Amino acid sequence: MTDRRRPPGAAEGFRTGFRFWDYGTDGGGPGRNPEPSRIYGPVHYIGPRTVCAYALATGEGLVVVDTGYARDGDLLADNLRRLGMDPADVRLIINTHWHHDHVEGNARLVELSGAEVCAHRLDAEVIESGVFRGRQVLAPCRVGRRLQDGQVIRHGGLELAAVHTPGQSPGAIVVRTTVDGPQGPCRVLFAGDSTGFKSNPGDFEEYGYPGVSADYRRTIAKLRGMEFDLYLGGHPHQVRGEMRGDGDPFVTRQQWLGALAARAGRMERFLARFPQYRI
Ligand SMILES: [Zn+2]
Repeated sequence: MTDRRRPPGAAEGFRTGFRFWDYGTDGGGPGRNPEPSRIYGPVHYIGPRTVCAYALATGEGLVVVDTGYARDGDLLADNLRRLGMDPADVRLIINTHWHHDHVEGNARLVELSGAEVCAHRLDAEVIESGVFRGRQVLAPCRVGRRLQDGQVIRHGGLELAAVHTPGQSPGAIVVRTTVDGPQGPCRVLFAGDSTGFKSNPGDFEEYGYPGVSADYRRTIAKLRGMEFDLYLGGHPHQVRGEMRGDGDPFVTRQQWLGALAARAGRMERFLARFPQYRI
């Protein structure tokens, strides 16, 4: 899948009118949602303002990566229609991890389309049961495909490789693929929130788990080795706030490595300050 003719992550020659935006710190609250739009080739932005959802158009229907909060299900469907697509054509939904803001919209899209949900096997149980640590936190949603590290999903001429990148959750994944577009084949990284560690006590208490910091250090090392052109993360600020000021999703390798170093540093400072979370 790697095109050796191009230097790693150089993002040279690729252009898109799409930009990630600044959205403040409203914790995912309502606000003016962006227009749905094509990013590159078959890849489109269909999510709300604060959490990203993407649609890939293939010869065999649509593949959606992450689905926002429950309230976003109808928005995603409307955004697909506004792009000239039919939400009934969604065939696969890939969840990068089980957290609310990435899976709750599954239900509405599945209702409209009968799409099959794919998630890493370690997060599939929470998505399917809706139960996390004995509490019902999500509406249950059947997971048709439980993914393993390195598993390749082939659909409509696309090859989507799931890479296990735990830390944000035990079953967090990134999805790598190459798509064709106006400037040629483009390596895409759907990163979810894999760059993130819950570096504050409140979030850590909620989402931390035994082995999380070791998982995250291994994930950062894995992510550093990844070569891609187009970065599509779980939230707009991953690009706009952390990689490049203009929000262009074609990030350079230097911007990528800089963002990873900043995130890893944030975790190490957090663990130095709160040694009780070195679990
Ligand atoms: Zn998130």
